[in-house]
Amino acid sequence: MIRPVSLGKRGRIPAGGRPSPSQDRPENMTRADDSLPTRRLTVAYVAALSLIALLSGSVHLLLDHVIAQQRDSGTIINVAGRQRMLSQRIGLLARDFYEGHDEAARVPLLQAAATMERAHRALLGGTGDMGITHSLSDAARTLYFSPPADLDRRTRDLVLAARILAGAEGPRAEGPRTEAPGTEGPGGTADLRARAFADIRDQTRDVIMPMLDQAVRQFETEATERIEGLRRAQQGVLAILLTTLLAEAVFIFRPLVGRLKTYAGRLYDMATRDVLTGLPNRRHFLEMGEREVRRGREAGQPQALLMIDIDHFKAINDTLGHAAGDRVLSQFGRLLQGWLRAGEVAGRIGGEEFAVLLPDADTVDAAARAETLRRAVEAAPINGHATLAWTVSIGAARVSGGADGLADALRRADLALYAAKAAGRNRVHLSADS
Ligand code: GH3
Ligand code: MG
Ligand code: MG
Repeated sequence: MIRPVSLGKRGRIPAGGRPSPSQDRPENMTRADDSLPTRRLTVAYVAALSLIALLSGSVHLLLDHVIAQQRDSGTIINVAGRQRMLSQRIGLLARDFYEGHDEAARVPLLQAAATMERAHRALLGGTGDMGITHSLSDAARTLYFSPPADLDRRTRDLVLAARILAGAEGPRAEGPRTEAPGTEGPGGTADLRARAFADIRDQTRDVIMPMLDQAVRQFETEATERIEGLRRAQQGVLAILLTTLLAEAVFIFRPLVGRLKTYAGRLYDMATRDVLTGLPNRRHFLEMGEREVRRGREAGQPQALLMIDIDHFKAINDTLGHAAGDRVLSQFGRLLQGWLRAGEVAGRIGGEEFAVLLPDADTVDAAARAETLRRAVEAAPINGHATLAWTVSIGAARVSGGADGLADALRRADLALYAAKAAGRNRVHLSADS
């Protein structure tokens, strides 16, 4: 019976089924399984993923903010640009109304003044009107509330002058040239309107336009600076994100993959190797043997199979105990591996039964090879019991060219082994048809 013992070392089985010496130490192979991905790595992995999710969320919010900023900045620049256009329009309409006596210019003049006032309030207040939510920066505030630009006062004066001219503010006038009696002369309506028109003309021609240009430039500069700041923040977050990914790859994924590889290697060993002897187990021996038989057939080489059985093994168990029996099996495993030549494939195929596939060997070679093994066992003292003799019986058969070459050879070698046992054990028998 094979007790389940985990293998301590991983690695592929070399050709001939000969494992490295370290793989042949069952007592060292039962350590607590420390190769499983640890809890610490898993926690680190989850934490790193959460960090990346958090950073990705921040990048998303930041981009959202950048888009909103860009939209806001665009609106401010647009509204400030419209102020320029409105001041020009007020100048033209005022001239048509006052000098050209065009009564039809009155309403558009008042409308232009109203729009200018509303846009001005929106720019100053950040009230949300006209889509502007920003309040003025310090630099823009200086432009609007301090000399020499004093844009707030100038804009309000321009709007007021347009209203006075159009008769919506101050003493009411009937029309462009129609003054009410007693309103002529200094301080009268005609004088007020004349001064209002002169104001409008001077402001719109030389003064307010360059100031409004300056305001537009100021808003454009601020927009660029804001976007630049956000872009730098975005680059910072991106750098952190990439660094986190890199750190995760180096400090979490790499060790995790390494441990998984180790673990997979151990699982492979456990699935293919007999732990007691370090030899390939029955299934793996059959897989390797089939491959080797195919290869030999293609190469046109003769092949032979040995079936080996330890004599009176039950008696060894009965005399020395089962654990000692295990050690004897282990000793035989080592002996067999030391005896194997390159290219020969061996496996433990039963309790105390082993098989060896000999490449490029006819039955004469096989019998000679088997004899060397039989003698080697006979000459080796049982571990710690130098006086105890142990022997093996071996059946040998050539591998036929048929489709089930290996299975057939196993069956015939087994019959030869049975014959060797019947003939008194500790001997080699060739299959009758070999
Ligand atoms: P023969 O010379 O005819 O082969 O006699 P034998 O005693 O070797 O053969 P038998 O089939 O009667 O007994 C084989 C014994 O091998 C029986 C079984 O308990 C023992 N055995 C099989 N596997 C193991 C193992 O892994 N460890 C140990 N200690 N004993 C095992
Ligand atoms: Mg036996
Ligand atoms: Mg047996």
